Amino acid sequence: ATANIGVVGLAAMGSNLARNLAHHGNTVAVYNRHYERTEKLINEHGNEGKFVPSKTIEEFVASLKRPRTAIIMVKAGAPTDAVINELADAMEPGDIIVDGGNSYFEDTIRREKEIRARGLHFVGCGVSGGEEGALNGPSLMPGGTEESWKTLGPILKSIAAIAEGEPCVTHIGENGAGHFVKMVHNGIEYADMQLIAESYDLMHRGLGMDAAEIGDVFEEWNKTELNSYLIEITAEVLHQVDAKTGKALVDVIVDRAGMKGTGTWTVQTALSLAIPVTGIAEAVFARGLSGMTEQRAEAQKQHLAGPEQKLDVASAERAAFIEDIRHALYASKIVAYAQGFDEIQAGAKEYGWNIDLAAVARIWRGGCIIRAQFLNRVSEAFESGEADISLLFAPYFKDAIAKAQDSWRRVVAKAALNGMPTPAFASSLSYYDGLRSDRLPAALIQGQRDYFGAHTYGRIDQPGAFHTLWAEPGRPEITA
Ligand code: NDP
Repeated sequence: ATANIGVVGLAAMGSNLARNLAHHGNTVAVYNRHYERTEKLINEHGNEGKFVPSKTIEEFVASLKRPRTAIIMVKAGAPTDAVINELADAMEPGDIIVDGGNSYFEDTIRREKEIRARGLHFVGCGVSGGEEGALNGPSLMPGGTEESWKTLGPILKSIAAIAEGEPCVTHIGENGAGHFVKMVHNGIEYADMQLIAESYDLMHRGLGMDAAEIGDVFEEWNKTELNSYLIEITAEVLHQVDAKTGKALVDVIVDRAGMKGTGTWTVQTALSLAIPVTGIAEAVFARGLSGMTEQRAEAQKQHLAGPEQKLDVASAERAAFIEDIRHALYASKIVAYAQGFDEIQAGAKEYGWNIDLAAVARIWRGGCIIRAQFLNRVSEAFESGEADISLLFAPYFKDAIAKAQDSWRRVVAKAALNGMPTPAFASSLSYYDGLRSDRLPAALIQGQRDYFGAHTYGRIDQPGAFHTLWAEPGRPEITA
């Protein structure tokens, strides 16, 4: 046995991860169900480092040094379960099975329990950064036991992206914690992308700017506090010209956004935890609306009433309005991150994980899709304790929103008056104003609940639970 790490599943992600491991001095055992993929990896990249190819899972396990450590990169769901079981059958107590796929965290909790019962370690590890990240440095979010982290930590540190001199990996917490955090990462990614898309729409349909002009704006925005991977690639996408038609490529792409489910999981989980993640939810719903082909086509035929969907902005005020959109994007982004971190905090409480939110923000600074300069500020805010209750109360972010909010309101109001949809901008602003409210209309809701269901209510002037005999006017309230 010579390999210190193994990879099972050598499609795009697995083969790139195996190469990344080999590039950093690891001896990498590799195995794939169909041997052709293994052969392809060895033929095309075998000279990049030390690989130990195997044709069977038993051979693969035998080529690993103890404690044997194997990373699974196969299709999520049943294939992952199948491979986990094959590995567990061939391995021995103390060995470590790592699932690097996009698994649902509840599955990871279940699998960890099952594998632990067999004396092995199971690590659910979120991997972000796509194929490029897997090859050149991903952001890694491993869960599992402290003991497995001792073996796995140095290996993962050797391949992770580097941000500000630090590898983008940290031990997130026990069992499903890593996949939970990866799930929320993806949810935040949905919100980030939706906010960028709304900004583009306001400039494109609203102000009549073409894709290249808007690409220039995003290029400028990338030099501000919005500096991030997603803003950078947005500028590039908008500058791309279609070879076939000579038009901007974005103008010939069908306006229907796909999704693979992690955004939906983030929202479903947030609903179960009763954490409002309005920015993420609106982003998932907006993709849903984009896919409602039949209803959208019918709406065109029916000419549903509403303004023309152009913004009435005088040319002299155009530059100022674009600046307003930038502020609206930044403020909404802060809200989306605050909500995402709220969900991680609530998840940690519910599932008994001890998650260091500052460390999470730090490992998202490089390698992953949401990498952004402002994560430095986010990590500082959690580190100092200023964001203990919410990111929105850390002075840096409180001030940022204070400066942005007039712009944010102008954008949402103007968009609404001109019939332009801004679900993520508008819902983030409503969330912010809801949070600010001294008194919410929830009092009325509680009154309604007591009326129809005798659910009782609390009073502002004395402790206890009260019920009113609503249908009989004049009857006194009673204490439940
Ligand atoms: P795919 O999700 O397309 O999966 C293909 C791999 O799964 C092949 O190696 C295939 O083997 C193997 N496989 C499928 N079914 C079985 C089975 N029943 N038993 C054994 N092996 C099986 O590959 P990707 O590389 O795109 O992704 C791998 C994992 O990484 C997935 O869980 C994905 O969600 C996750 N991921 C992907 C990212 C991305 O950007 N693509 C980013 C982060 C995570 P064979 O060749 O024999 O068919």
